Amino acid sequence: MKKIAILTSGGDSQGMNTVIRAVTKAAINKGMEVYGIRRGYKGMLEDQIFPLTLLDVSGIADKGGTILLSARLPEFKDPEVRAKAAANLKKYGIDGLVVIGGDGSFHGAHYLYEEHGIKTIGIPGTIDNDVAGTDYTVGYDTALNIILDAISKLKDTATSHERTYLVEVMGRNCGDLALYSAIAGGASGVMIPEAQSSIDKIAEVIKKRRAEGKLYDIIVVAEGVGNIMDIKDELAKKIDTNIRVTILGHIQRGGAPTAFDRILATRLGVKAVELIEEGKGGLMVGIQSEEVTTHKLSYAWENYSKTSASDYAIANMLSL
Ligand code: ADP
Repeated sequence: MKKIAILTSGGDSQGMNTVIRAVTKAAINKGMEVYGIRRGYKGMLEDQIFPLTLLDVSGIADKGGTILLSARLPEFKDPEVRAKAAANLKKYGIDGLVVIGGDGSFHGAHYLYEEHGIKTIGIPGTIDNDVAGTDYTVGYDTALNIILDAISKLKDTATSHERTYLVEVMGRNCGDLALYSAIAGGASGVMIPEAQSSIDKIAEVIKKRRAEGKLYDIIVVAEGVGNIMDIKDELAKKIDTNIRVTILGHIQRGGAPTAFDRILATRLGVKAVELIEEGKGGLMVGIQSEEVTTHKLSYAWENYSKTSASDYAIANMLSL
């Protein structure tokens, strides 16, 4: 009987539990034995490995966070540490491992496959949408919707007080959350790390809007652009409207996953189990043009997850 394990690693995202449920159910359905590993690679090293049952994953598809907990273990870059962790898996006879996380976690999974033959499959789970080899990461859609909800609320108070709001959103070096929340939220400006933004241009748009009688401005700023307080100070030199900064922070990572994220999580989880069943490893799964696809894990860091230049142009075109 095949034995597989599952862990969540790096920053958590909504839909990780949905993946855990899908993997567990699909694997048990195929006659496999499933183990959970708590606290990512740290738990693998410390032998926090336990049998995962259908009861454990019952009712979790709609719960944010991860029942397996997540952690970071920088020491996993050391081959000796990985060897110790791999030995723990082998002790249980586990030869397949599903890793849910970002490209850092995928590095670990890649080495476990290359060095120890563990059939690892990576599932992109992060709100940042910064993993190449998939159009969407699990959690991104939910975070995007949380940002949209926040923008709607900020618009109300921004209008009452005729303010300009700079809204900082997550995404690390990826501007997708900022760009698409700006488009969907009707923002009057967006700043992303992939494109050079001009504070002069944003100031011009704000002045024009005010001259036309518009009472508020929402400018979405990706965290990867730089210090938002410096951006605020820079902008304040150029306009005389009242500017406020709102940093949305970790609320973007919590709450129930959207239907999109739950379906994505389930499709990718089932695919991961199928690949292990076929004896494959060292791969990541993703969704590209509506199809579930597979790539080598290294694809995630050898390629760049590109923010669409044409969508950035659309956002700017509507910044009036
Ligand atoms: P994410 O997976 O979201 O990108 P991190 O970059 O924090 O998050 O990585 C999560 C964990 O993956 C790290 O704490 C570490 O245990 C492991 N990891 C990251 N980079 C590497 C690497 N180059 N080699 C081996 N393991 C790594």
